[in-house]
Amino acid sequence: MGIASAYHLKRNNPSKRILVVDRYGSPGQGNTGRSDATFRNTFSSTDSQILSNSSIDFYIHLQEELKIDIGLQKIGCLWLMDEARLSKSEPHLRRMNDNGIEANRYEVGELKRLLPSLVTEVESNAEARLMGLPSIDGGIFGPKCGRLDSDRLVKFYADEFAKAGGTFAFDTDAESLSIKSSKHQGTRIESPSRSDFEVEGVSVHGAADKVIRAETVVLAGGAWENELPEPIGIDGHVKAKKRQLFSIRAKGEKLERLFHSSGFNAFGLLPLVILPKAAVRFEAVGEEGVFWASCFDEVNRPFINLPQHDLGGYRAERGFFEKDIYPILKSYFPEFVNCQIGEMWAGLFAYNAFDYLPFVFRESNLIVVGGDSGSGMMKGDSLGRIVDSVYRDEEEARLYGGIQYRTSKLSFDKRDVEREEWVI
Ligand SMILES: Cc1cc2nc3c(=O)[nH]c(=O)nc-3n(C[C@H](O)[C@H](O)[C@H](O)COP(=O)(O)OP(=O)(O)OC[C@H]3O[C@@H](n4cnc5c(N)ncnc54)[C@H](O)[C@@H]3O)c2cc1C
Repeated sequence: MGIASAYHLKRNNPSKRILVVDRYGSPGQGNTGRSDATFRNTFSSTDSQILSNSSIDFYIHLQEELKIDIGLQKIGCLWLMDEARLSKSEPHLRRMNDNGIEANRYEVGELKRLLPSLVTEVESNAEARLMGLPSIDGGIFGPKCGRLDSDRLVKFYADEFAKAGGTFAFDTDAESLSIKSSKHQGTRIESPSRSDFEVEGVSVHGAADKVIRAETVVLAGGAWENELPEPIGIDGHVKAKKRQLFSIRAKGEKLERLFHSSGFNAFGLLPLVILPKAAVRFEAVGEEGVFWASCFDEVNRPFINLPQHDLGGYRAERGFFEKDIYPILKSYFPEFVNCQIGEMWAGLFAYNAFDYLPFVFRESNLIVVGGDSGSGMMKGDSLGRIVDSVYRDEEEARLYGGIQYRTSKLSFDKRDVEREEWVI
């Protein structure tokens, strides 16, 4: 979200000197580099639908019209549901329809034709009954969903930013926000009020008393968002949580057949599939011949207010896969019985646990973007454009495709969004 913001800020304010500061050695090495980079425009809230759909359109424009290969593949997203969830989803589908998002409802017969091995009546399995697994009574398929290569997308933004004259300070740890009173120029008072403080810049680790001064500071710290604003009494609003990914080799006749399921997309690949329990999800990663699987461990996984800087300290747990993902996966798709995990890794989600939508707010000359709740990559372009509009004091941001979006909707003082229900 930081690099997309830098790109749009530089593009629309070419005379401004913009410096991107990051403690890692190159762009996209934070959680962006740990994500499985799926995108979907199928959400419950209008806001998520618009923010993602417009960003996806921009990514498709890069891939298909500008021929910049960001590894984008529209493999689709299939959400499997029981009857109760399907009927609860009716208003979401209507909203998608109103917002020009294609989402098709599949009945069980159609699902069985496309995925012959899918167990829809899991109740006949004692283990599944014990786990309280819902039956599958249908599904919702979004064809304009898929995967892309997050490194390549980041490279696009970073290269264009640099070409336009933007600069980087990598391996640079911003330790604190340096503030002053805007009314008493030059004076450092201990406790300026909210209406008269100003951020002079950021103090940087390693250089004694070194402050990088700036007219405006944009904070896009991802999971580490709280680190800088909270010591000056501004809520960072992010709740980080460990998130894990496991790769499963598509080996053996049955898994290979599932991997190459046809009828969903032009690649003859299984789409992103979301199961009706714990949002266990998996997708076929064509170039690697593996499935990537994860799940939404909502309860009994603590939030972390100030995460450690080294993401390597967060490790994937084999036991978590074995206890929380595998039993669900194999109950619906028996071809996963005795499957082998290959690589596994962990990163951090940055939740806005209040409504699961991102925020962009301004306090004096500090602009803060974050709280993507696991969808920062797929909404990143829209958020970058909104940051730029907030910087330029525009009431409406113009998202890709000419969509007008009121910038204050994502603020806190005038927040006006629907809580997102389809969080995975
Ligand atoms: C396992 C996993 C799977 C995911 N899957 C998806 C998915 O399929 N689709 C999707 O859209 N999203 C997914 N996400 C979420 C996605 O990764 C995030 O939404 C996105 O990366 C957020 O981008 P960001 O720029 O805010 O954060 P980051 O990429 O983490 O960038 C934040 C940057 O800020 C820097 N920083 C922070 N504080 C400081 C400081 N004080 N000084 C200097 N530098 C600082 C960090 O070094 C880092 O480079 C996934 C995440 C994980 C962990």
